[in-house]
Amino acid sequence: MSRIQDTTTGSLNGEAARQGGQNLTCSRYEALQVFEHVYREVTRGKQLYYANVPFDNEGIAAHLASQECNLCLRWSRNARRTCQRLLLEGKLPSPEAKERSLKRVSIAAVPGTQQPDVVYGAEPVGSSASDPGASLDSAGLELTCRATTTSSSGWELHLSFNPDEKQTAQYDGTLVSFRLTSTSGKTAEFEARLDVDGGRLVSSPCPLKGIDREEIGSILLHPQPVIATGG
Ligand SMILES: [Zn+2]
Repeated sequence: MSRIQDTTTGSLNGEAARQGGQNLTCSRYEALQVFEHVYREVTRGKQLYYANVPFDNEGIAAHLASQECNLCLRWSRNARRTCQRLLLEGKLPSPEAKERSLKRVSIAAVPGTQQPDVVYGAEPVGSSASDPGASLDSAGLELTCRATTTSSSGWELHLSFNPDEKQTAQYDGTLVSFRLTSTSGKTAEFEARLDVDGGRLVSSPCPLKGIDREEIGSILLHPQPVIATGG
């Protein structure tokens, strides 16, 4: 065991002892249970150590959300960092991406512009209850194609999400990549940065290329591991 690991384990032991726990446990949960909880969140529901046995996932979520148990909070941060690194290295099962069909939304032409926006909308897939903030699938989204002079196709894309609080906090300032499929089966990949604007998560504009703005049929958001903050 390296000196760094030794020091970490030592301080965790000390903290557990101060809280009256034994064997690295707080009064309610063990480190392995916290790890399982984080693993399920990062992989969107895949099970690890507690496969097919009763597991109090919601209880642990509430325990962490209360911000009262520093021991479990620290375990969850360490577990999240580990899981996200493994996910990026391709060593964890990837969360399943869900394709969403896009429906044309009719809106009035913008006065003074020559080309009206082409706007599509997609319903949320799943609910935030079954998908606890780990993805944007449970947020409604709008895709807008807007005329521009800065793109070779003459058009750019804007994505806008209707997030819940947790999604807002997790995705503000992050990159999201997505694939559009046309009604005739052509695909094109895009990447954009998300920022909060008026309660919505709004993307930076991306040049529209490889797909006809009138024929966009569906969108697939590639899950992005959320980089944890704090230590
Ligand atoms: Zn705890």
